[in-house]
Order: sequence, then structure tokens, then C-alpha cells
Amino acid sequence: MKPGRVLIIGAGLAGSLLAVYLARAGWKVELVERRADPRARRLAVGRSINLAISARGLKALRRAGLEDTVLKDAIRMRGRTIHPVAGETHFHPYSSDPTLAINSVSRSALNLTLLDAAAAEPNVTLAFEERCTGVDPTRAEATFVHDPMGTTRTVTADLIVGTDGAYSAARAALQKSERFDYSQDFLGHGYKELTIPPVTVGPYAPFAMEPNALHIWPRGESMMIALPNPDGSFTCTLFWRHDGDGSSFAAIRTAADATTHFQSVYPDAVPMMPTLGEDFERNPVGTMVTVRCNPWVRGCVALLGDAAHAIVPFYGQGANASFEDCESLLDALTHESTIDAALARYQRDRIANANAIADMAKYNFVEMRDLAGRASFQRRKKVEQFLHRMAPERFTPLYDLVSFSTVPYTEAKARGAANVRAVSTAITLFVIAIIVAVMILAVLLARFALGLGAP
Ligand SMILES: Cc1cc2nc3c(=O)[nH]c(=O)nc-3n(C[C@H](O)[C@H](O)[C@H](O)COP(=O)(O)OP(=O)(O)OC[C@H]3O[C@@H](n4cnc5c(N)ncnc54)[C@H](O)[C@@H]3O)c2cc1C
Repeated sequence: MKPGRVLIIGAGLAGSLLAVYLARAGWKVELVERRADPRARRLAVGRSINLAISARGLKALRRAGLEDTVLKDAIRMRGRTIHPVAGETHFHPYSSDPTLAINSVSRSALNLTLLDAAAAEPNVTLAFEERCTGVDPTRAEATFVHDPMGTTRTVTADLIVGTDGAYSAARAALQKSERFDYSQDFLGHGYKELTIPPVTVGPYAPFAMEPNALHIWPRGESMMIALPNPDGSFTCTLFWRHDGDGSSFAAIRTAADATTHFQSVYPDAVPMMPTLGEDFERNPVGTMVTVRCNPWVRGCVALLGDAAHAIVPFYGQGANASFEDCESLLDALTHESTIDAALARYQRDRIANANAIADMAKYNFVEMRDLAGRASFQRRKKVEQFLHRMAPERFTPLYDLVSFSTVPYTEAKARGAANVRAVSTAITLFVIAIIVAVMILAVLLARFALGLGAP
């Protein structure tokens, strides 16, 4: 297909990467963003918020020549360090292959890297502080309000891609069209970001704890996690219920209550969090939503990234999946001869996979906040890793399939379900083998005791 003009709505992670891809494929790209240009204040030091990028995201970044730039400032996390209420922390590797790790990267630095790469393409025009207010697939146009001035403009294009995030205006417009399936499902838990600052002394200085791990304080119904930053700090995220008693944002509101609660629930974290009370009071509570819709395409308008499939963050896959979407759309536009055919191919490739990772992400919350702290679960993980070491072609744990491979999410989910059965069978066979061995030993001992000798 001859590349034409594409309008990309939203210069977040997915929109910026897509702009790079399509510009290099010969498209004339207009990338329009609601916020002010973040490049203007790149030196302003703000709170560091990070996310985990793994195999899928790295593959997509590599295709844009950006993998090394992103990994330069990334911190590798090889597994989970579990912090119980009392007692020692314990480390659980993500994979039986010790070379595999997920990467903690700064979200704003990643966005800047992608935006810089888009801006460097001669085919890309960038516009900021312009908020999309709607798209019209029948007229192939989108409308924008320039927020500082209140002026509006309409942009037409051969292809319009809504990459405007979980609360997408592009998707909202499509929702009004016929036979557009849509669901949004808010989690009863919210999240709040806190911080562990760098330290000057200690075994991991400037880090207050082991840096090459994702730290988890699993507490059944709730949890806290911490990811390392290159400056030696950790960004902590508290996942608590919105309502109810105990660990909930409704029950605990003040700095004093937060400090008291932390002392009993996350006691080892408190000495590392000197600004806990003020951070707790100042930082907002975020909501977490799963958005599913179908179709993702109407006429020449397509949804991509969180606009098409917002998922809860517990598998660390939202951005990774969005980057995979970008690859899928690029491939479809490269291989098909019309935009219609390309968009049909793109959504055929991606919708089932997005639904699969949405399901797995929800399940992983239970795993992280509750199961990860249990000995029985840790034993199962060890069995999984043992089976993987013994028969790597036949058995790959689900975490490896999702985070360290690029097999489709649908395949990962199906193989993960089969793994559960395989591990249960392995444990049952192991127990039977022990029982049989004990019985044989008992028979031998009995014969020996009765002076009959070996059979
Ligand atoms: C707490 C938390 C932790 C996470 N951790 C991870 C992780 O570890 N790993 C991972 O892979 N993912 C993670 N994610 C998910 C990840 O952040 C998203 O999946 C990813 O940002 C999606 O990229 P996007 O470009 O589709 O959307 P966004 O990054 O949200 O970008 C959307 C862009 O569109 C702009 N915009 C919005 N509305 C308009 C409008 N009307 N007009 C114009 N522009 C508009 C926004 O300003 C923004 O720049 C996490 C999410 C959360 C909430």
C-alpha cells in the first residue's frame, strides 16, 4: 500500500513509538497530544515513576533502534524479594534461567526517548496542548481543542489511530456507533505511589535494599511493591482497597494513621521511608480499570494501546502489550494492499491477545498480594522451575512465556492452564513415589526383622 497521511491521537508510550514506525515506513504523521510538551521541562526533577519492560517491549523498541538507549538506564530485576511481616526477606527468581530479568525503567524517560525519536523523523509533525474531543470515521476526521486558547480545529487523514490512553476520547466516539461492544471494570483496589529515597551507607548503597529485585510486601487482601530507580531510590506502590476497614484508603487518610498502620503491616519498610507520612497525604489515589472493546476499528479509525485494552498493572504488561500492538499495525500496513484490509488484520491479530493478558493480569494480583507469601505456592514455583530445567522444550512456566518470550498471549494463557495440571500431576506422582518407596522400605525392614532376608 502507498503510505498516506496518518493522524495519531496521544503522544504517550504507544503513540510515540507508532509515530516512529509509520514515519520510517513513509507515512506523513501528525502526532497530537493533550498535555504540554514534556521535552520543554525535561530537566525538572519530579517524582520518579517506573514500569517494567520485558521481552515484548524490548523487541518492539529494538525494531525502532531504541532498545540500547532504554536499557542504558534500566535496572534489571531478576526475581521477587518477599517481605513478610516478621522474619527474613526471601528471594524468588523469576526464571530457572538466571540470565533472565525484567527491566525497571523510568516512565517519563521512556516517553521522552520515544518522543525524541518521533521528533527526529522528518515525516512527523508534533502538536501539544491539543485535546481530542471526538473522531468521525465516516468523514475520516478528528476534532481538537487547543486548551490554552480555547480554539478548535479539525484534522482529516487517511488513517486515524487513537492512542489516547485508558479514558480515550477516540474510543468514546466509537462507543456511540452501532454494535460496538464495550466494558469497563474497575478494581475495588486503588493505588498510591510512595518513595524509598537513596541512602549513603548500607550493603546496597545508594540503594536501601537489594536493587536487582522487585520487592513485594504481600498481605493477603492488599500489598505494597517497590521497583528500583537508577538514582538509588525505589518507587513504592501501595495497592489497597478503596473502601472498608484495615488496609484501605477510606480507613487510613492521615500521615499519622498511615505511619502507625505501616509500623504494624510493613514494619521493615518504615525506617526506609522517612517521608512516608507526607507522601501518603500528598500523593493521589489512582484507580485501576480493565477496558475491553470490540471492534477496535471503524472505517479508517483504529484504537491502539490502553485506548483499546486498558489492563490492571499486575503482570507489568500494559506498555509491553501496547508496543506489540504497534508492531502488529505496522506489519499489517506493510503487508496488506488497503487500509481496510490492514486494519482488519490488525484487530484480528490483537483483540484475543489483549483479552488474554487482561485475564492473566487480574489473576496475577491474587498471586502477588496473597499467594506469593505462601510456602505452598513457592513450592509449586520450584516444581515449575525444576520441570523447566528438566524439559525446557516441553515445559515453560507461565511467567517465562509472558515476560521472557513473545509467544502470543492467548498461547501463553492456554499453556499456563496446562502447566497447572502438569505441576499437580508431577506433585501427585512424587507423593505416590514417596509412599511406594516407604512401603517397600517397610516390607524390607519387616522381612529383615523376621529373619527372612531380602526377597
Ligand atoms: C500503576 C501502574 C503501573 C504500571 N506498570 C506497568 C509495567 O510495569 N509495565 C507495563 O508494561 N505497563 C505498566 N502499566 C501500564 C502502562 O502504563 C500503560 O499500558 C501504557 O502507558 C499504555 O500506553 P498508551 O500510550 O496506550 O497510553 P498512555 O501512556 O496513557 O498515553 C496516552 C496519551 O494520550 C494523551 N491523551 C489522553 N487523552 C487525550 C486526548 N483527548 N487528546 C489528545 N491526547 C490525549 C495522554 O496525555 C497521554 O500522553 C502500568 C500502569 C499503571 C497505572
